[in-house]
Amino acid sequence: MVFLSEEGATRKTLITGGAGFIGSHLAERLLERGDEVFIIDNLWTGSLNNIAKIQSHERLHLVVDTILNESVMNELIFKIDRIYHLAAAVGVRNVMDHPVETLDTNVKGSEVALRLANRFKKKIFIASTSEVYGKHVEHDLSEDDNRVMGTVKKRRWAYACSKTLDEFLALAYYDEKKLPVVIGRLFNTVGPRQTGQYGMVLPGFVQSALLGKPITVYGDGTQTRSFMHVNDVLNAITALMDTPAAEGEIYNVGNNQEVSINDLAQRVKEMTGSDSEIEHIPYEKAYGPGFEDMERRCPNISKLKAAIGFAPSYDLTSIIQSVIDYFKT
Ligand code: UDP
Repeated sequence: MVFLSEEGATRKTLITGGAGFIGSHLAERLLERGDEVFIIDNLWTGSLNNIAKIQSHERLHLVVDTILNESVMNELIFKIDRIYHLAAAVGVRNVMDHPVETLDTNVKGSEVALRLANRFKKKIFIASTSEVYGKHVEHDLSEDDNRVMGTVKKRRWAYACSKTLDEFLALAYYDEKKLPVVIGRLFNTVGPRQTGQYGMVLPGFVQSALLGKPITVYGDGTQTRSFMHVNDVLNAITALMDTPAAEGEIYNVGNNQEVSINDLAQRVKEMTGSDSEIEHIPYEKAYGPGFEDMERRCPNISKLKAAIGFAPSYDLTSIIQSVIDYFKT
């Protein structure tokens, strides 16, 4: 099916961060369904390799620049129909190592994207994060839950706060300026093309296991996460953007199958048939001082189900397998 803009022309979609892990998959998906796709990416954590398959596609336009460049963003947003705003600082290691760039990109970059989206009244998807919930341990996380933030001295929370500010600003534009916005809080998204370079656990574990290097679990490994395959994320966020009732709303975008990091390490070791040792190392050694982890993170996805009839199609085994297959090839 080819999606058309309101005027009946091919729909033009801008993906900020379109050369990143999620953005590049989204670009492929949108090209497949007939959109003309514009990507802006400064290649900080994005990579031309991610879009090598589609770079010469006739409906793909790539701009290598920062989203902080307002004149470039103005020109792009003027000519497109809708925006997926994915450009952000990603990866706990990156956030710990580059706090200034993290805050600049996530706060100022989103401010630019939203202000210009509003100037031309273009619908925008804001990719937020499960980090905004902070240090909850008690229950599955629902969109209206309070946020439990750590001290400002712990750098990790800068990321959560910057993304929270993006959400506040997006809702403010919706309420005050009638800008159509949709907010998705993405829970640990994984799949082919994600690199372990910026701290993400699953690609790191799989690479170590395949190379016979130690699989390093940070802390005692009892902390949990819920992993979602990138294809499921695309199903959810494209459906949300096509659902008018989702405007002005926040949705958890995740898979509610929770796993401890110890169990994840064990499963990766078994599924790769690796001889790697599973080692535990303290957080300070992994990230330096000023780090605090989240003990538990599992989404309640009933709001997403109610909005778009969503159910994750990948379980944890098929998710891990897809990452193993990616690194093997
Ligand atoms: N982690 C780990 N070993 C690694 C990388 C991460 O044990 O090599 C842990 C990390 O401390 C966290 C979990 O795995 O508890 C998920 O980490 P990731 O950075 O992938 O995502 P996030 O912390 O943002 O959920």
